Amino acid sequence: MAEELMVQELMAQELGTAAVRAMLVLVCTRMIENTDRLTSADQAVGDGDHGIGMRRGFTAARDKLAETEPATAADAFKAVGTAVMSQTGGASGAVFGTLYRSGATACSGTALDAAAFLAFLDQGLAAVQKRGGAMPGAKTMIDALAPAAEAARAAQADGLAAMMQAASAAAQDGVEASRAMIATTGKARALGERSLGHPDPGAISMQIQLAAMREFISTQG
Ligand code: ADP
Ligand code: MG
Repeated sequence: MAEELMVQELMAQELGTAAVRAMLVLVCTRMIENTDRLTSADQAVGDGDHGIGMRRGFTAARDKLAETEPATAADAFKAVGTAVMSQTGGASGAVFGTLYRSGATACSGTALDAAAFLAFLDQGLAAVQKRGGAMPGAKTMIDALAPAAEAARAAQADGLAAMMQAASAAAQDGVEASRAMIATTGKARALGERSLGHPDPGAISMQIQLAAMREFISTQG
């Protein structure tokens, strides 16, 4: 524990615009690499298009980040949100597009610090709920995002790296917890109790994105 805290003290507690851009490129890369896993997950409880949709959206986002230099951290988040929103298709395009576009408004300065990361999760969650109308427990990405926001808040005093670690771990627990939920929204709703035992595909996507952020910050001295 003491060792872990020492390691975290050595990690960056704030990411500037270039670092945020690089972090989001890693998020896109990890999402693209997990296409098959997301396809399988959506074949079990949905229509099987989640992996392909996410790959399309996050490929467009990575291309956008590569071809334009965002002036601020907010612009980098916005570029991802707009690309995901317009290129993914399906429910998840609107949901993850909304997350990043509202997340953009959380970074009012040029850097992503502890407060901005928490605002990204909080405002993203609120915007996704407002747009899609799903409540926690409905077996959606909210069941990874809501516990992640809560865990990040609890870790805020320990700084950005600790928050990302906590958010990623809580999202993973959320993915596992979603197995025991009966889908009440989206395509999986048609399955009713047959959705039991399977994790929610969008929750897995949320966890992959937070794990990529955590992975990125662990490389920043
Ligand atoms: P579609 O359901 O249109 O085929 P995808 O398969 O790409 O879209 O995405 C499915 C995922 O989207 C679900 O696993 C769930 O996490 C998420 N999702 C669906 N509807 C909502 C909603 N109203 N709020 C939040 N997330 C949702
Ligand atoms: Mg689907």
